[in-house]
Amino acid sequence: MAQSKALLVLENFIGGKFIPCSSYIDSYNPSTGDVYCKVPDSGKEEVEAAVKAAKDAFPVWSSKSPLERSQILNKLADLIEYDLEAFAQAESKDQGKTITFARTVDIPRAAYNFRFFASSILHHVTESTEMATMGCVHYTSRAPVGVAGLISPWNLPLYLLTWKIAPAIACGNTVVAKPSEMTSVTAWMMCKLLEKAGKSWVPHGVVNIVFGTGAKAGEALVCHPDVPLISFTGSTLTAQRITEKSAPHCKRLSLELGGKNPAIIFDDADLSQCIPTTLRSSFANQGEICLCTSRIFVQRAIYSEFLKRFVAEAKKWKTGNPSDPTVDVGALISKEHLEKVRNYVKKAQAEGARVLCGEGVDALDLPPGNQKGYFMLPTVIAEVKDESCCMQEEIFGPVTCVVAFDTEEEVIKRANGVKYGLAATVWSSNVGRVHRVAHRLQSGLVWTNCWLVRDLNLPFGGMKASGIGREGAKDSYEFFTEVKTITIKH
Ligand code: NAD
Repeated sequence: MAQSKALLVLENFIGGKFIPCSSYIDSYNPSTGDVYCKVPDSGKEEVEAAVKAAKDAFPVWSSKSPLERSQILNKLADLIEYDLEAFAQAESKDQGKTITFARTVDIPRAAYNFRFFASSILHHVTESTEMATMGCVHYTSRAPVGVAGLISPWNLPLYLLTWKIAPAIACGNTVVAKPSEMTSVTAWMMCKLLEKAGKSWVPHGVVNIVFGTGAKAGEALVCHPDVPLISFTGSTLTAQRITEKSAPHCKRLSLELGGKNPAIIFDDADLSQCIPTTLRSSFANQGEICLCTSRIFVQRAIYSEFLKRFVAEAKKWKTGNPSDPTVDVGALISKEHLEKVRNYVKKAQAEGARVLCGEGVDALDLPPGNQKGYFMLPTVIAEVKDESCCMQEEIFGPVTCVVAFDTEEEVIKRANGVKYGLAATVWSSNVGRVHRVAHRLQSGLVWTNCWLVRDLNLPFGGMKASGIGREGAKDSYEFFTEVKTITIKH
């Protein structure tokens, strides 16, 4: 670890070695507004070195048995779990999220990603058919693709990075990963663990991490001719650019993008379950989760009651210093993002919507050390028109809109009336209705009477502008391997 006086200085991790960069980007602590870390500003040269290291490591790594790779992934899970508290503290400081969220969601899941793919890689079966009349048997074989380029966002930094690294290396690929320039610290800490685990556990060059911006380091990776596949999680706008840039190379792409997720609450919903869960689905991680609810449709008979109870509970969410374990809402990622989110609230007001709590309505009371941090109260807006930008665009902050509906048919149409299709929740005690509605929603994931309950075995991903491809045990295996059909005539 290179460290100047007070600042943490990160280095790229290439071929098993930490390598300083010639220039650096400032990284801020969102809860204080101070620069506290320097992140390498990598470009073509660094990406070139990382891809070479990954290419060199590929023959040995790809020829290891699934069991050998599985043992290594389990070892990585052990190492992260052992240092869970240090990782949680770092993630909270770097991203602005609460220490409680980092301790209970981000870091446990990062470790579990390795553990999950360590197990699932042992259980895949390939296909086989017999064509007796031709005297032939056909079967499929799957092989790793090569060097995987992995690009991740800032909202769930280590959680989403390991969700890509784990399946990629479990399948026998080697990787060059680029985390978000705004949240690079826990990825760098993971490289420290790889170094500590030693070459016999994770051979040099299997995991390479290049830090830097999307425009320089990200694009260099996307355009590199020796990187045949890119797994990207981030915004729809960036995905369009990646698609264009990678097109001349015919790369395989997995794109996990934004959402504008509806919650549909029928008048027979159990509000004692629905209200606390919908508060979490709206405001968890400051609303900075692609799966967060931002459009709440409530059937008219219970609209007033729901709104009253929902707003009263939202006001109880405590916003403040993320390292305080009693705090529910931490800081947003950056000053610019905070401004963007606040602007959505202003636009809604200008259009005649009512802000019932939060931004501009309630006082934000911050501790002295956090006055310059990027904080915002959970904000509930009512009477927003469906065509308003607040109901159409991804806000990605602690802002949710509540509107009334009358019929099932109407609400399905309105819920589907956006360009995104990532996640939806449906609340009703009528089993027939939840199935019916779930089938008709244009959404890669539908949760009924719950939110964010995930079985990693099953496909994860979005429809429409929310993405291309799916991730999960079988889906990630298929994405990170190349399939071949072999025919044997006897
Ligand atoms: P972003 O698209 O700005 O950046 C994501 C990553 O892409 C970063 O590492 C960034 O440096 C890199 N990047 C930017 N421009 C690039 C380029 N031209 N070429 C290559 N890489 C480039 O997204 P963000 O602001 O970091 O993250 C928030 C977005 O991510 C939201 O839209 C959110 O919904 C989405 N998201 C989706 C999922 C999902 O699973 N569907 C999960 C989390 C976040």
